[in-house]
Amino acid sequence: MRKELVFIKDKCKGCAICTIFCPKKIIELSSETNEKGFHYVIFNGNKKEACTKCLNCALVCPDWAIEVWQEEDSDQIPGGDRISGGASHNE
Ligand code: SF4
Ligand code: SF4
Repeated sequence: MRKELVFIKDKCKGCAICTIFCPKKIIELSSETNEKGFHYVIFNGNKKEACTKCLNCALVCPDWAIEVWQEEDSDQIPGGDRISGGASHNE
């Protein structure tokens, strides 16, 4: 079953812990800031496809700002403060 990694933009405080624990090194902090003024986590470039959904990033996040959704739940993903794992600097 396909899964999707979801970064909850406005819950992120930009601590970068998740980027350290990602074994693929495919996530980084955005150059832009969220509503709290923090640089939030995103996939770097077009690395989304390299994500194995290992959950390391979600497990180490102290603010529950990363979630993994299964495909059957995808229509429940609210817009607004959530961004798809495909977000990048260029979007
Ligand atoms: S789920 Fe795993 S591979 Fe994907 S971004 Fe998080 S730590 Fe990296
Ligand atoms: S997603 Fe969580 S661990 Fe990653 S930078 Fe944001 S607050 Fe820190």
